[in-house]
Amino acid sequence: MKSEAAERTWQELLAGNRRFLAGTPTGVTSALSEVPKVASGTSPIAVVVACVDSRVAPEILFDQPVGKLFVARVPGNVLAESVRWTLDIAMAVLQIPLVVVLGHTGCLAVREVVEGKVTGLGGDLRLQVAEAAAAVRLRAGITDLENETIRENVRATARLLVSESEIVRSAVTSGRTELRGAVYRVEDGSLELLDSL
Ligand SMILES: [Zn+2]
Repeated sequence: MKSEAAERTWQELLAGNRRFLAGTPTGVTSALSEVPKVASGTSPIAVVVACVDSRVAPEILFDQPVGKLFVARVPGNVLAESVRWTLDIAMAVLQIPLVVVLGHTGCLAVREVVEGKVTGLGGDLRLQVAEAAAAVRLRAGITDLENETIRENVRATARLLVSESEIVRSAVTSGRTELRGAVYRVEDGSLELLDSL
């Protein structure tokens, strides 16, 4: 089942990224005037699951004012418990129609796993990235392991969100919510959209 609200919202976020790229953002400049409008409550239009990387700021890169995005950030944009809780609230309480899993180029969480560095940090969360890298390694003809792992890691998080949360699964299967995946390019601020999740 297709959600028109999800598609409309996705197009709104992509238009925001185009404004950001054109150097004509409106989200930040109108932020202060939005504050009183959302003081008593908000209706965010999308959930974004992103990395903590300082270059990956969802409100800026999607050019959205305060009150529009419900954001969960964790190293490597994996499915941490906090991300699942965020999604459960987003689906059950706020009934947000769109979930965006946003990876990014130059992700340290992915690079360390791909390069085999063992820092002892991250535990189970790093394991999710390692599983994405292992899945990519099995494919034939992979020349760019890091960037393929970044893409696969986005897809894996999207899959886990559905398989590990009853609330998300029900929202997705009933058509109330849709998932989209993208990779933000830290080199130029653009987005690579991932077709299949
Ligand atoms: Zn990252």
